[in-house]
Amino acid sequence: MRGTRSSLYPEQQLRRRAMGWAVKLKLRPQRVLVERLPGKWGSCAPDGVVTFAEDLANEGKDFQDYVIVHELLHLRYRDHGKQFKAMMTAVVPNWRELEQASRHSTERQAGTD
Ligand SMILES: [Zn+2]
Repeated sequence: MRGTRSSLYPEQQLRRRAMGWAVKLKLRPQRVLVERLPGKWGSCAPDGVVTFAEDLANEGKDFQDYVIVHELLHLRYRDHGKQFKAMMTAVVPNWRELEQASRHSTERQAGTD
């Protein structure tokens, strides 16, 4: 865990942001967690628990939205198929750029850096 936290609790803001997106996208995660998640930005478990890396709270809002929408969409689409990508493009039009800018893998597969 990292040391001192500001009174703003960026992790809480990140969580709130994710909840906002869930409402907007009409998706219902079982729970939204912000935790230490080495080597990845987020994950979506089959039981509907969506987890985001606490490091994500320090990234730009555009990138946060990209990761949040990506993981939330996994509640509806388990893979990165055509429908998944079409939805990503509809919600985050520049997601491909953001994905390329990502230094970690978005999820699951262990990070390589
Ligand atoms: Zn994914």
